[in-house]
Amino acid sequence: SEELSGKHVTVAGLGVSGMPAAKVLHRLGARVTAVNGGDGEGPRRQAAELEALGIGVRLGDDRTLPEGTELVVTTPGFKPTSPLFQAAAEAGVPVWGDVELAWRLRGPEAPPWLAVTGTNGKTTTVQMLACILRAAGLRTAAVGNIGVSLIDVVLEQEPYDGLDVLAVELSSYQLHWAPSLRPHSGAVLNLAPDHLDWHGSMEAYAAAKGRIYEGNQVACVYNADDRGCEPGVPRTEDLVRAADVVEGARAIGFTLGTPGPSQLGVVEGVLVDRAFVADRQERAQELAEAGDITPPAPHNIANALAAAALARAFGVPPVAVRDGLRAFSPDAHRITHVAEVGGVSYVDDSKATNTHAAEASLAAYESIVWIAGGLAKGATFDELVAASAPRLRGVVLMGADRELIRQALARHAPQVPVADLERTDTGAMAEAVREATSLARPGDTVLLAPACASMDMFVNYNARGDAFAEAVRALAADGPHSG
Ligand code: ADP
Repeated sequence: SEELSGKHVTVAGLGVSGMPAAKVLHRLGARVTAVNGGDGEGPRRQAAELEALGIGVRLGDDRTLPEGTELVVTTPGFKPTSPLFQAAAEAGVPVWGDVELAWRLRGPEAPPWLAVTGTNGKTTTVQMLACILRAAGLRTAAVGNIGVSLIDVVLEQEPYDGLDVLAVELSSYQLHWAPSLRPHSGAVLNLAPDHLDWHGSMEAYAAAKGRIYEGNQVACVYNADDRGCEPGVPRTEDLVRAADVVEGARAIGFTLGTPGPSQLGVVEGVLVDRAFVADRQERAQELAEAGDITPPAPHNIANALAAAALARAFGVPPVAVRDGLRAFSPDAHRITHVAEVGGVSYVDDSKATNTHAAEASLAAYESIVWIAGGLAKGATFDELVAASAPRLRGVVLMGADRELIRQALARHAPQVPVADLERTDTGAMAEAVREATSLARPGDTVLLAPACASMDMFVNYNARGDAFAEAVRALAADGPHSG
């Protein structure tokens, strides 16, 4: 923290991550100027709060570098192509994100970081990892992109409240701006198109994810089933190969199939480890059964294997992997079973906000009435629809970009009945559930897995999932076939 004292630091952006960053830097003795493009009521209120603490603020211009800036600390709202960063590059001024700042401030007592990234499954995997570490008697916390600021963790909890190890979720934005991060071990769960508007290309997105392996001390955990999502885009295993790691650090694969040496995998429904067995000839070490994991869907078993690999790399015994996975229960709106009405199951996977996530949850059921739609964020739906078509009983579409999904359905699943909902008012979800119910037969699953962001109709994916659950409960109260 001494290196920041007296330094001219520009914080790019106010808001939920800019405000704490500005305050922390100020407290550490930096001479802070927070810059923000907008100058409306919200930013003015935040500016007043910072100014009252003696922190400089410049509203209405986030394109030019304030005179004398020696360091820029940025928030995720700024794309790498932002003029501010071009100005910084020209002036030879480094740019750090919140994770870089936390990494540099973490102090000598810092517990090791076991880091997780990927397009989908990050939060789930980090929570599984924390459960496993706790089952091994270790003191840990799930932190980072999961909603617990790493800066708070490294500064406020000194000396870490006695934490032994951190389970850290990292986003591609955070990794992009974390050049000196060197985790104990890192995992990239999977790679599929997402956030391309921010990164500019799939290659740039993959490169940001790959940063998690840089300087790994013990294990680089990759997805051995990843065949590459597009020609020219590296697989997670390629990202490991490209990384510069500490000598002796190992590449550890996980697979839903039979594991090779240095891999974790699944044999006859049992999760097994061939990477961390004492004797290489020894048969695979059994870790847990698929039935120990909630939900036992394939993508979630992959998450469990990744969490197990990081824990085993940290020396956790097999029995703690099993106990930890049994103790884990997923957060709301992630394949949450809401109710069964008239023999039909209703499942809320509102968190499936991109096509890769939706494809995983559609793969987990046999016969599905699928509720989809929202904001597509530039995605295409052909692959998802083609892969899922055989399992679709019917589809209910809603939201701004539903036409894109409708066209993909017309191309790849013309025989599947589609209910196209135009309304976007608060009653729309209840109607979607009614439509889905009329398409469903006993034994089917009505699955909310929108493959899209929610903000066209809802505050966030939580609100969308809550609306779904409420509509299902109303239906259950009414009885299935009333009205
Ligand atoms: P993240 O933190 O990366 O957004 P979550 O753990 O919150 O991931 O899960 C988000 C959604 O992604 C889940 O609701 C599920 O639909 C899907 N998902 C979870 N794990 C995977 C995986 N390994 N592969 C594909 N999709 C997944």
